[in-house]
Amino acid sequence: MHYDLILKNGVCVFPWGEEKTNIGIKNGRIISLTVEISDEAEQILDAQGLHVLPGLMDCHVHFREPGNALVETIETGTKAAALGGLTTVFDMPNTNPVTADLETVQWKQKRASETSWINFGFYIGATRENTKDLASLESQKGVCGIKVYAGSSTGSLMVEDDASLEQVMLHGHRRVCYHAEDEYRLQERKKLFCEGMPYENHSKWRDEETAFLGTRRIIALARKTGRPAHILHTTTQEEMEWLVDHKDIATVEVLANHLTQIAPECYERLKGFAVMNPPIRDKRHYDACWEAVRNGVVDVVSSDHAPHDPSLKAQPWLCCPSGMLGVQTIVPLMLNHVNEGRLSLSRLVDVMSANPARIYGMPSKGRIQVGYDADFTLVDMQKKRIITNDWIASPAGWTPYDQVEVKGWPMVTIVKGRVVMQNDEMLGRPKGELVNFLP
Ligand SMILES: [Zn+2]
Repeated sequence: MHYDLILKNGVCVFPWGEEKTNIGIKNGRIISLTVEISDEAEQILDAQGLHVLPGLMDCHVHFREPGNALVETIETGTKAAALGGLTTVFDMPNTNPVTADLETVQWKQKRASETSWINFGFYIGATRENTKDLASLESQKGVCGIKVYAGSSTGSLMVEDDASLEQVMLHGHRRVCYHAEDEYRLQERKKLFCEGMPYENHSKWRDEETAFLGTRRIIALARKTGRPAHILHTTTQEEMEWLVDHKDIATVEVLANHLTQIAPECYERLKGFAVMNPPIRDKRHYDACWEAVRNGVVDVVSSDHAPHDPSLKAQPWLCCPSGMLGVQTIVPLMLNHVNEGRLSLSRLVDVMSANPARIYGMPSKGRIQVGYDADFTLVDMQKKRIITNDWIASPAGWTPYDQVEVKGWPMVTIVKGRVVMQNDEMLGRPKGELVNFLP
């Protein structure tokens, strides 16, 4: 047998456990897990000492294209993702213009197929105007689902009232993902705070009840309409304990930031650079998020990579924009959490590969198996390294984890059988493909 690529000597993480296996790849797919010594290949990659994971995915990034190439584009964002060990990303629709009609969808399809380094999927933003088109928009190539901003967004992407939310749920059948913070409570509580107050007020303004109330409202409507809901960036103990009883209709995302940073310490150290929505909360919620990762309430871990120019993030509270970079650091951070005993490597594969494949409908991704796409993240679990701003490929050029040492590092990124990153070096050119989703 002659392969395009043989991955040899790596410890592969299968659903049934870890096993040293040689993988044979042809035409972008895994075609053998029993490669013979005599088999040949165009390229043989020796993964001795490395763990071979099914390609890790980040289902929540904001690449700012079209809109603001000075902080990120699809090309720079997917390069950062590949350097950080990711094989697939899903891009959010709050671009400028917003991704919410056929014209902007076609623009993004073309741009991504020309400039993405890795597999690329993207969301359609729900608006009051496009509700009736959602069923046809969601079936366009590369569309991973619908994004609903029920709170905290700007302009046309906000759908906050129950009647409009219900209309969104009644159109289409693919995954609907919610930023669930309750907009009414946010507006009401904003009067209690003013510009220039300490940054830690961010988590007081956008308090636990703002998050919990929003999530309860979404789930109630999901039950009423029968349309499953994917709750993005869940942050509170209250939501996690309540969602246990709603797993038949709700899937749950948590962010690496909420599993890594703790308030108020993060606000004292990072100031405006720690401001994001929903906010980073205190130790009680941090512990609850980890408990939910361990007990299975959490389905997906993402970064919510949302780059901003550092000069804007340096502004006083309430002026500084929300969001931070994360697509390049999520894998190193999560590998460090594995090494510190907070989750197993197989659970990491669950929340960053197998579950995204299940939830978003990618039947040939999410595990190492014959017939599946040859997407792999190769990691060195022993490698210690310090994350630094100068490693960051995004034009915005910073990370909240500058100078943080981690143990565990992505060494090789393989996308559809092509080695796109090896030892910090990008190889070849952007050939990224739009992800195929189940209809
Ligand atoms: Zn986001």
